Amino acid sequence: MEFQFGQEEELFREEIRNFVKSELPADWAMGMFEEGDSDETWAFIMSISRKLSEKGWLTMTWPREYGGQGASAWKALVYSEEVGYWGIPGTGMGVSGVSWVGPSLILFGTEEQRRKYMPLIAAGHPDGVWCTGYSEPNAGSDFANLRTQALRAGGEYVINGQKIWTSSAHRARWCWLAVRTDPNAQTRHAGISIIIVDMKSPGVTVRPIRNYIGNHHFNEVFFDDVRVPVENLVGEENRGWYQLMRSLGYERGGVAVSSCGHNKRVLEELVRYAAEKGLLDKAEIRQGLAQAAIDIEVQRLLAYETIWKMSQGKTPTFEPSRDKVLNDEILKSLSSVGMDILGPFSQLRRYGRSLNWFHDLGGLRSLYWNLIGMSSAAGTEFTQKNIIGQFGLGLPRSY
Ligand SMILES: Cc1cc2nc3c(=O)[nH]c(=O)nc-3n(C[C@H](O)[C@H](O)[C@H](O)COP(=O)(O)OP(=O)(O)OC[C@H]3O[C@@H](n4cnc5c(N)ncnc54)[C@H](O)[C@@H]3O)c2cc1C
Repeated sequence: MEFQFGQEEELFREEIRNFVKSELPADWAMGMFEEGDSDETWAFIMSISRKLSEKGWLTMTWPREYGGQGASAWKALVYSEEVGYWGIPGTGMGVSGVSWVGPSLILFGTEEQRRKYMPLIAAGHPDGVWCTGYSEPNAGSDFANLRTQALRAGGEYVINGQKIWTSSAHRARWCWLAVRTDPNAQTRHAGISIIIVDMKSPGVTVRPIRNYIGNHHFNEVFFDDVRVPVENLVGEENRGWYQLMRSLGYERGGVAVSSCGHNKRVLEELVRYAAEKGLLDKAEIRQGLAQAAIDIEVQRLLAYETIWKMSQGKTPTFEPSRDKVLNDEILKSLSSVGMDILGPFSQLRRYGRSLNWFHDLGGLRSLYWNLIGMSSAAGTEFTQKNIIGQFGLGLPRSY
């Protein structure tokens, strides 16, 4: 059995590499959760989003009428691989614009919503940047415990409550907000809806949270009597939970591919560095690198399988969770062997955006310290395993 891409995909891969050479600094590297940290970095990232949009790549799988190219899943896979490998920034339009706002609007939105919001995302426009408001102080893994309320008053919803860990809220124009629209629903999972909120609305307050290594990536967001037109409801009122369950696995299916590209690059840089420094005769380093190579290859094949299922029109259920758990494990072992290889250099802090990648400046520090955040973001390991148990093994559900 041999996996090969067609000529079209390989030519496309070459085109992306040329783009990287012409648009990114030679030693470009984006540390984890650093994208919204400074105005300068953010402006650079948005300039790359625009260029990706001009190339037609930013939202290439979307239908043409909403700013996409109708590209195949395989072409998108090549793009994601290269995005991860080279660390191309600006591919998300906030934390959610590209990956799930657009695709969810295709599944559940009105035609008016699609035409209003999707072209802005596809154009790499600052008004196409989104944040996602799911988590609350008492609703993380237990998402159905959310308390933020949106009550109908005539032609509007009036929203009150608080979200937390909201990535990119300080950069976003819109929030993809999960709210409780029926406080008296019979089960906690009923009565939740998704509403689009303009972050410029009166009553929205964004308060920064700096993570433990000092980056400003996420925020608290407060909603005090925020009024939103009822047209901003996405899909059916009180069916938000079910809509999200249907769309999330599908939309996160592609993430494993870019993670795999990223991990492959880290591994290659570590091998190069270890060879340069004469470290390859140390057994524990050889073993660590070899294990990482095995894990990354497994990750690549599983990621391809998820994309293949999607290309067949099947909705992945447990696969994105499986791929995420595996990725968290790989990041742990890669950063650990990387710290061993780099020694004290791994503690150096990287500033700015033009820095040596995993070389003398020790970019692994960012990876190592951000592991805890990485493994919680988009659902913790235990949440993912509950999903795998339910949908992959047919075990009783955990909630
Ligand atoms: C970098 C980063 C970015 C984020 N961005 C966003 C964002 O943009 N929007 C957003 O809404 N949220 C965001 N989050 C929040 C993220 O979704 C939550 O952190 C995550 O869902 C976990 O929720 P929690 O932090 O409340 O932890 P908890 O749910 O309190 O979990 C604490 C621990 O208990 C375990 N646990 C909980 N329930 C169970 C169970 N039933 N079975 C077994 N173990 C369990 C968990 O696995 C975990 O180890 C972000 C988080 C991070 C770290």
